[in-house]
Amino acid sequence: MKGILDFIKENVSATFAREVVAVGHRIVHGLDLSQPVLLTPSSLATIKQAAVLAPLHNPPGLQGIEAATEVFSGVPQVAVFDTAFHQTMPSYAYMYGLPYDLYEKQKIRRYGFHGTSHKYLVEQAAVMLGKPVSDINVITCHLGNGSSVAAVRGGKCVDTSMGLTPLEGLLMGTRCGDMDPAVVLHIQNQCGLSAKETDTLLNKKSGLLGLTGSNDLRTVIEGAAKGEPRSQLGLDMFTYRVRKYIGAYTAALDGKVDAVVFSAGIGENSPFIRKLIAEPLHTMGMQLDAAANDKAVGRAGVISAPGSRVRLLVIPTDEELSIAEQTLQVVKGGASASGAAAA
Ligand code: ADP
Repeated sequence: MKGILDFIKENVSATFAREVVAVGHRIVHGLDLSQPVLLTPSSLATIKQAAVLAPLHNPPGLQGIEAATEVFSGVPQVAVFDTAFHQTMPSYAYMYGLPYDLYEKQKIRRYGFHGTSHKYLVEQAAVMLGKPVSDINVITCHLGNGSSVAAVRGGKCVDTSMGLTPLEGLLMGTRCGDMDPAVVLHIQNQCGLSAKETDTLLNKKSGLLGLTGSNDLRTVIEGAAKGEPRSQLGLDMFTYRVRKYIGAYTAALDGKVDAVVFSAGIGENSPFIRKLIAEPLHTMGMQLDAAANDKAVGRAGVISAPGSRVRLLVIPTDEELSIAEQTLQVVKGGASASGAAAA
């Protein structure tokens, strides 16, 4: 943090440190916290408690908070949670079919991630559709190295593809996504893998990487074009699963979908992947406009045909902006934030 501050002071603004009114932190797991919070001993305790469920993310997040508190002393620190936006999911969407005790005692349930991105995408979709967020139903597809889909009714998330951890759902760069949980037991029993080794296998060696040898979808697309069967398989699996979730979430929204949004590294930059996902969905009222699709690369655009019942949108995500906006809101509205900070 000190290194970053020194760099900014030298290259951007010498008075930067004095201009900072608050620091917003992206924290992956916030258990059942549904809003960004001002960091206090009690909210810090929640983040520490949630570290069991996000061991790779929450501890470094806490270190970031500690460092920022030291470097920007006296400035309010705010945590914005990846899980927060999904807290509106109904229990029938967030519960697993496990003994209820595990939910009560261990907090085992589906939480969902990429919430800051899905929230931002829905807000931007509302602007593009010219309607209030409360009046639209949207399916947001955040497709990057980590990928997830969310079903959002009137601005509130009703389902999302990631679960207790970011492993559930779509096929990802290195994560397996949905599968029969018995596969885990089988791998451990038959291949003698420990819990830690299995965790590494599922999170870091699976997905596109495990299937094709590369976690970079561009390499997979190139391989498929050259006729490599495993690259073709990876491509088919990736696009099929996104399509399957769009179908499932259309049902979750009672068939009333105003827009499907594509975002993140893959969703923003690959007309080819968007075409593979969207074209077969024309019978569900999603009609792609080939020329508009080709043009929307790295920028926002409507890529559905004029008569399409469901609008297809490309929206570059901006989690940093969303974190900054949410942080400012907390600081402005927060009783314990100082007046100076809100200026
Ligand atoms: P992260 O989850 O790490 O933030 P990004 O949102 O940056 O990931 O997305 C990274 C992914 O985007 C990589 O798999 C990369 O292959 C993919 N990607 C970027 N540009 C393209 C493109 N033009 N075509 C296909 N995939 C792309």
